[in-house]
Amino acid sequence: MDSKIITKYVYSFSPNNEPVETVKKGETLKFKTLDCFSNQIKSEEQLITTIDFDHVNPATGPVYVEGAEPGDVLVVDILDITISDQGVTTTLPEIGPLFDKVKTRTKIIPIKDGKAIFNDIEFPVNTMIGVIGVAPKEESIPCGHWGFHGGNMDNKRIIKGTRLYFPVNVPGALFQLGDLHATMGDGEICGTGIEIAGEVTVKLDVIKQFPTERPILETEDKWYTIANAVEYADALKLASEDMQKLIVKAYGWDATDAFLYMSIQGDIEICQGCKPSPGDMVVRFGVPKIDGKPLVR
Ligand code: CA
Ligand code: ZN
Repeated sequence: MDSKIITKYVYSFSPNNEPVETVKKGETLKFKTLDCFSNQIKSEEQLITTIDFDHVNPATGPVYVEGAEPGDVLVVDILDITISDQGVTTTLPEIGPLFDKVKTRTKIIPIKDGKAIFNDIEFPVNTMIGVIGVAPKEESIPCGHWGFHGGNMDNKRIIKGTRLYFPVNVPGALFQLGDLHATMGDGEICGTGIEIAGEVTVKLDVIKQFPTERPILETEDKWYTIANAVEYADALKLASEDMQKLIVKAYGWDATDAFLYMSIQGDIEICQGCKPSPGDMVVRFGVPKIDGKPLVR
């Protein structure tokens, strides 16, 4: 059976969004995504100041997952990501540490054979998902924002082959995603990656009654907790506390040993750290995967 294809867009994560599809646990489906400017920018003559900001940061979905209830975890396997043959990057007014030293500029960036072409250099892409998550319990949160439901995490480790765990806040979870980047640096210093349209294939599953307040990411070699806050210290505290809890629960160590281990084996990494900006800091805390000792399940 061919997988279902999701093509409708929303601009917020919300318990009030009408699901566009209902899927069973274990089902595979494909999301067609627009870039974060809703594909409005087609040429370098179009500056960011001319686009319609009511239609930025679209996400595709949401999808209702049968059997997902509050208190459960939605498991999202990123099976594949394909991208269009060109992306766009732009400076943003008053965003990022160098905004007062640069022009407003749009750059169209061709993508060819897995490489991005920027002026006279080429470099390999690391195609990732910027916006991904589930509905919050009550409020509606714009897709350009961050939260314990996921959202615009801009985490460059969310790539093909990785698995995400989201806390389910409402029946069906209401999963959605968008905002692919052909590639992006940690912190996204000017506020944009190589913004690009594409398609993402995922498999959705549910773990019953696994308590987590915030998203967890499993990559080929690491476990990450992810958290956001206005201040770096607060985001770091939340991500660290989440990791400490996972280690205590999975390894049977006490909280002090978990903290010591996190300092010698863990890495603090920045997802979103573009300042100044009105945005939150998004940090991830990663520890290596150890054979036979998963942090989740
Ligand atoms: Ca983004
Ligand atoms: Zn983006």
